[in-house]
Amino acid sequence: MDIKRRQFLKIAGLSTIAGLGAPAAFNLLLKGETSPVLHASSGGGAEASHEAAPTGVRLAMVIDQRVFDAKEGLAQKCTTACHTVHNVPDFGNKKDEIKWIFEVPYEKAFTAKSHNHKNKSLHDSSFLVLCNHCDNPPCVRACPTKATFKRKDGIVAMDYHRCIGCRFCMAACPYGMRSFNWRDPRPFIDQATHNKEFPTRMRGVVEKCNFCVDRLAKGLQPACVEATGNTGAMVFGDLNDSHSEIRKVLDENFTIQRKPALGTQPSVFYII
Ligand code: SF4
Ligand code: SF4
Repeated sequence: MDIKRRQFLKIAGLSTIAGLGAPAAFNLLLKGETSPVLHASSGGGAEASHEAAPTGVRLAMVIDQRVFDAKEGLAQKCTTACHTVHNVPDFGNKKDEIKWIFEVPYEKAFTAKSHNHKNKSLHDSSFLVLCNHCDNPPCVRACPTKATFKRKDGIVAMDYHRCIGCRFCMAACPYGMRSFNWRDPRPFIDQATHNKEFPTRMRGVVEKCNFCVDRLAKGLQPACVEATGNTGAMVFGDLNDSHSEIRKVLDENFTIQRKPALGTQPSVFYII
């Protein structure tokens, strides 16, 4: 670990003394800056710098809402596939809920859009949301232990063993795409479907969508994409490959991203 727990607590204490509010901290994170206090004291972990945009593989996803609207139950199928393959616990209550991918109404998915006089189909739709694997991820810069980090292929990954449960990443994510294990999740994993190949987490650890990095390593598609079959509801691939299907879909369709004005550069695109 780059930073010892004692050092971290000292930093956290100094940050509190410095009176950094969440909005101010978020602005600093988006600009790639940390507070002077953090710079002076952290010894590296809190200074995780903004990496340059990858020039090799850059993984991304397109969600075609038209297909989800036409196929009732398809979004739920994706959620179930993801949560099953990743041993996401079901605590049976909203307060403790762990979510990697889930459905929200239009106004929650796209808060920056005008919602007056929106058309009926938008009104009736619910949109799948997941970690956007932002190219400029504030969560990564907020993490003092580098438990969350951006890979060269653009995936914003998690190392559960390094997570100290400070939840700075959760405060920094402007999309609310991270969940915290307030309780021991292991007893709440469905034993009938327990995936022994994917690690379970413990109390005090943050988790989120990982773009199925473990499945990609085996040459598989993300579980949610696989669950949509050949419907075209989700397309996953390399943005930097001009011959990839995702590039074709992006070239041929008008797409939107969530909160683009924040400058986080999400890697999840929506056709609505
Ligand atoms: S959506 Fe949130 S958790 Fe995911 S990379 Fe962006 S800021 Fe981080
Ligand atoms: S890409 Fe994988 S981890 Fe992310 S939502 Fe889809 S199934 Fe879940």
